[in-house]
Amino acid sequence: MKKILNYINGELVPPVKGKRLDNYNPSTGEVYSTLPDSDEEDVHSAVEAAKAAFPNWSALRKEERSALLMKISGLLEKRLEEFALAETIDNGKPLWLSRSVDIPRAVSNINFFATGALHYASEAHDMDGKAINYTLRSPIGIAGCISPWNLPLYLFTWKVAPALAMGNCVVAKPSEVTPMTAFMLSELCMEAGLPKGVLNIVHGLGGKAGTAIVTHPDIKAISFTGGTKTGAAIAATAAPMFKKISLELGGKNPVIIFGDCNWDEMMRTTINSSFTNQGEICLCGSRILVEKHSYDRFKNEFSEKTKKLKVGPPADETSKLGAIVSKQHYEKILSYIELAKHEGGKILCGGNAIKMGGKYGGGWYLEPTVIEGLPYNCRTNTEEIFGPVVTIMPFDTEEEALKIANGTEYGLTSMLWTENLTRAHKMAAQLRSGIVWINCWLLRDLRTPFGGVKNSGVGREGGWEAMRFFTEPKNVCIKL
Ligand code: NDP
Repeated sequence: MKKILNYINGELVPPVKGKRLDNYNPSTGEVYSTLPDSDEEDVHSAVEAAKAAFPNWSALRKEERSALLMKISGLLEKRLEEFALAETIDNGKPLWLSRSVDIPRAVSNINFFATGALHYASEAHDMDGKAINYTLRSPIGIAGCISPWNLPLYLFTWKVAPALAMGNCVVAKPSEVTPMTAFMLSELCMEAGLPKGVLNIVHGLGGKAGTAIVTHPDIKAISFTGGTKTGAAIAATAAPMFKKISLELGGKNPVIIFGDCNWDEMMRTTINSSFTNQGEICLCGSRILVEKHSYDRFKNEFSEKTKKLKVGPPADETSKLGAIVSKQHYEKILSYIELAKHEGGKILCGGNAIKMGGKYGGGWYLEPTVIEGLPYNCRTNTEEIFGPVVTIMPFDTEEEALKIANGTEYGLTSMLWTENLTRAHKMAAQLRSGIVWINCWLLRDLRTPFGGVKNSGVGREGGWEAMRFFTEPKNVCIKL
């Protein structure tokens, strides 16, 4: 059984107290590896290593930092298949998805920020010839990066890469539920010759290792992606310590469909935006609003297509959906399906757990589920389920669609389907979310600001936003 180790000061080390946690393969329900159950002592060692590494790392020329990061991404690209398989075993997502999205995107994240740092320029402000101001942007020091289980290496590198590229040292914690690819990345960092202490990866529970990172006085910035409740707890701890925080949190994203849209394209994409990665993507659309005169057509076609989606072992190339990440999460999703029924919802398709045969008998599989007949403000329609479960609702007017779409405490992303350009622009401006996709979904340009409003988060990642987050600006004013 593979033993995952912490990566501290350039070495793979066991946790100080020797405690370990089980790591499950969701496709079989079996424990297949163990990971450190780290605590504040391990985080302390990681911070000491990062502090020692910071003077040299931050003083390196950006070209040298960039070259080292590119070496890591090059190694990752070479071992893409191995990492894709590891991600699939750890998370339960289909192998085709890890191979085509998760790992390639982790490579792109590193390449994007490693090269972006070479092009980064800070601002200058001329005061009509009286004085000139320029902004120095220095690395913050030690950044804490905490990432979730749904897109494990993808979101881990999305945080760690800009922090390192801008000259910070990092103490990072992947989700305890999916630690494997971050562990494998630490091996690549060693192979690439990343100086010791620059990146430290501490595995363990959020409430223990995660809390130790958030409360450590020498960690000056926290970049966190995860649930809204956890984000609130982190903010409550970090704010009085005057740490910089970036919080990418939950969503309950609306998909608004007008009858004039490109129907086939909308149908194909809405199936994907509902069920890709078992619906475990913060950007998935979970509330589908359909213009009333097209509602029945949508409901029938969408349910028929959903019924045909194959749920199966993640390594099977024909599985469209794999396993749910953990028993706990699987039970949570099932409890929401029960809640939906209790709230008066009608299950149009799905709604049940699936028992696979043979070695997959203990795995956690769910049917993709479509529900109708619920009020827009009930719990099923306002709380994040984060699984293969969507609701559909009819609407009459643009105003009504906006009221429903904006009617939750979340505001991460919205999807809008219409060929009416004026309506698209008008509604995009009124949707209360950090991202609006019109006639598409998950079309990502890494330069764009990424993040949510309301309870979906604070701050933005991506492009210059991430680089600004991981630097401290200082204005220098010179009188001429
Ligand atoms: P959690 O909030 O449970 O955990 C996220 C990470 O934080 C994990 O590494 C977790 O460790 C750690 N953590 C938990 N408690 C604490 C704590 N008190 N202090 C510090 N760290 C802590 O989220 P999930 O892993 O369940 O991820 C799913 C959530 O992430 C969903 O709500 C989803 O919407 C959101 N998400 C948001 C995205 C965005 O960009 N806005 C993108 C992807 C997901 P451990 O696993 O050990 O508990």
